[in-house]
Amino acid sequence: MFWRFFSFISFQLLGGVTGWYVMSSIHLPITELTGVLAGVVLGGAVWFLMDTSRCARLLHWLRDGNTAEIALRTGLWGEVSTRARRLIRARENETQESQHRLQDFLSALQASPNGVLLLDANGQIEWLNQTAAAHFGLDPQRDLMQHLGNLVRDPGFASYFANHDFRHVLIMPGRESTPARPVRLSVQLYPYGEGRLLLLSSDITAVEQAEAMRRDFVANVSHEIRTPLTVLAGFVETLQTLPLDDEERSRCLGLMAQQAERMQSLVNDLLVLSRLEGSPLPSDTEGIAAPALMRQLEQDGRALLAVMNPGAEPLHQLVFESLLSGDIVGAPSELLSALGNLVSNAIRYTPPAGRIVVRSRLLPDDRAEFSVSDTGPGIAPEHLPRLTERFYRVDRSRSRDTGGTGLGLAIVKHVAQRHGGGLIIDSTPGKGSVFKIIFPASRVRLPKDLPASLPAAPAASAPDPASSRWSQTTGS
Ligand code: ADP
Repeated sequence: MFWRFFSFISFQLLGGVTGWYVMSSIHLPITELTGVLAGVVLGGAVWFLMDTSRCARLLHWLRDGNTAEIALRTGLWGEVSTRARRLIRARENETQESQHRLQDFLSALQASPNGVLLLDANGQIEWLNQTAAAHFGLDPQRDLMQHLGNLVRDPGFASYFANHDFRHVLIMPGRESTPARPVRLSVQLYPYGEGRLLLLSSDITAVEQAEAMRRDFVANVSHEIRTPLTVLAGFVETLQTLPLDDEERSRCLGLMAQQAERMQSLVNDLLVLSRLEGSPLPSDTEGIAAPALMRQLEQDGRALLAVMNPGAEPLHQLVFESLLSGDIVGAPSELLSALGNLVSNAIRYTPPAGRIVVRSRLLPDDRAEFSVSDTGPGIAPEHLPRLTERFYRVDRSRSRDTGGTGLGLAIVKHVAQRHGGGLIIDSTPGKGSVFKIIFPASRVRLPKDLPASLPAAPAASAPDPASSRWSQTTGS
């Protein structure tokens, strides 16, 4: 400020001195004092013009917005220019930082597994993430500033949006939903700011399916348990109220024991399934020798045959071909349970005088195959995809009569998957079925002195051209 005052006075002094000098050197009829005064005024005016021009330069620089270069370096206006530049720079940095923060925030919303959509006070889309775009079939660029009500035409959503009562969640079909592959969305709007709305959507198809499966499962279990319980209660009442002779009494007790056994098998299978679902994957340090596994299966199979036809000729011809001499790495109890279920099914569903072949062998690519083939009734192709569902039965009465629970193949599939393998079913109605569990090479440990692979099994296991095949490597 001092320099500004100093320069103003200096200009006036210089003007005054110049006026005096001019007046004293040229002899005009006006006094020297008048010359000095005129010089002072002129000096002040020149200073004022120069100052105004500097101020105009500063204004132009500010209007231009190009803060890269400094408009003025000296004087009061120079200082104003430097300070303004610093202020603008600070604001620019703040804005940039806010922009980065906003971008980070939007990126986080973009990564959200839920759909996020922001609406302005007029219901127009301000921003949406990819998930919301997929849920509602919108384009994140093209549909910006479009009215959401014009783009999402579902009647349920239209009335939810129009009613402005957003206290509850709306369940609606997703854009990709088809009768074969329904997609269900949970949608809710949340008011915020001045009339703005935040829409959150999530895909609840899997949750709804799981809930439906849980409901079906509970209903099925209740039904399966209620039937033998009703029969048991009926016999208990008979024993309590009717005077029965010894023969009738022992027949009643025998039937009661059968029903109790049925409930026991059901509870056992349910426990096995829940253990399979809840326990960690089988270890890769434990295992069982394939020949030992086959011996145990043979022992159990022959015992079952004997129970089914006590005292007489065996019902079926039971053949065991143990062609694999390595170990299967995994949980021995699970492996025995899965393969035992296949052998038991073959024995139970094959009519008398059938032939059942149980075979273990090494495949050329070092995978291990356990197959159980029978000459039973076979299974029609339409049943194959559902065969491993819990409680799904093709022949309901045969399953019940022979003590089936409807859970056997569900257990087999689970065990195969837990060991990284799969279940393959080949079946020809009227001719028979082949159930195979294939374990990956990583689950097979061969003895050191064994050739890499044994000869392929005889052609008996080759599927019939008329047969249907279903493989289960992934599951519900
Ligand atoms: P279940 O305890 O009823 O045998 P599973 O899950 O083991 O239940 O089998 C499901 C259904 O598949 C059975 O009810 C039966 O109808 C059919 N099934 C299984 N194995 C055979 C087989 N070897 N031959 C014919 N049908 C079979």
